[in-house]
Amino acid sequence: MSTVSTALWPAGRRRVLVVGIDGVRLDLLPELHTPHLDSIAAEGFLAPVQVDDATPTMSGPCWATIVTGVGVAKHGVLGNHLGGNRLDVFPDFTTRLATAHRRRTFAAGGWEPLFLARSGGPLFAAPGRLSYIAPLEDTPAAWEVCDARVAAEAEYVLGRSDDDPQASFVYLGAVDETAHFLGCGEEYRRSIETADQHLGRLVAAVRNRPTYADEDWTIIVVTDHGHLDQGGHGGRSTLERTAWIAATGLGITPGAPVEPPHHTDVAAHVYAALDITPDPHWTLDGRPFTPLGR
Ligand SMILES: [Zn+2]
Repeated sequence: MSTVSTALWPAGRRRVLVVGIDGVRLDLLPELHTPHLDSIAAEGFLAPVQVDDATPTMSGPCWATIVTGVGVAKHGVLGNHLGGNRLDVFPDFTTRLATAHRRRTFAAGGWEPLFLARSGGPLFAAPGRLSYIAPLEDTPAAWEVCDARVAAEAEYVLGRSDDDPQASFVYLGAVDETAHFLGCGEEYRRSIETADQHLGRLVAAVRNRPTYADEDWTIIVVTDHGHLDQGGHGGRSTLERTAWIAATGLGITPGAPVEPPHHTDVAAHVYAALDITPDPHWTLDGRPFTPLGR
């Protein structure tokens, strides 16, 4: 038997929730009813992100960059098949925190490569709690059901004191699926508004925690890429390359960051929000959002 303690660190006050909504176009947000995202933007910021030149505007590489804090040159995810990756060297923050830092972490969603050993995955290798909820078929309607179940699961986990994850990632995929099937029309717009309702449930679960007054929460909402009008992405057009990040929480004052944020900054900010100094060997490419560390 090893004598190394496997006890978890006490949680302390700081906690982070990252909500990833796949394929939400920034340019359409002003005309949509997204009160929960609007609240986060008003408390903190909502800023454009440009997918960098080296990164395909595809879900696999963009989400890998977002949750590892390093670019494709390091994590090696170049498509929606994640094979050939170096995620063992550059793990996602839920895995890094659970293994290197003995923190409670949680990841939930319905897209296989993020959570299962399929298509070269999983991106989330070893969070403390992992909830994969499969869509019953590959259609927008089935993905809406999936997202609702993911949100209910996350609402349950986030609201309780026993799991009490310090860092969580919740993935919603119906918006992207809708654009691929139906383009960026009415159905797509309604799907974004539904995702915002799920976001609202998660924020409420956090803020209704009995211990909330004794906690310091950071909430980050992020999308991975945009979409062409007819649906689809992967190219270099402005519509495809434009993503966004919204955040509120400890150290984030209202207003846009001094410098435009990057996808790599999400994981870097998660560590900063938990008061964890990244090991130089992690070679993070991102930095915390202003004013933390900028
Ligand atoms: Zn995507």
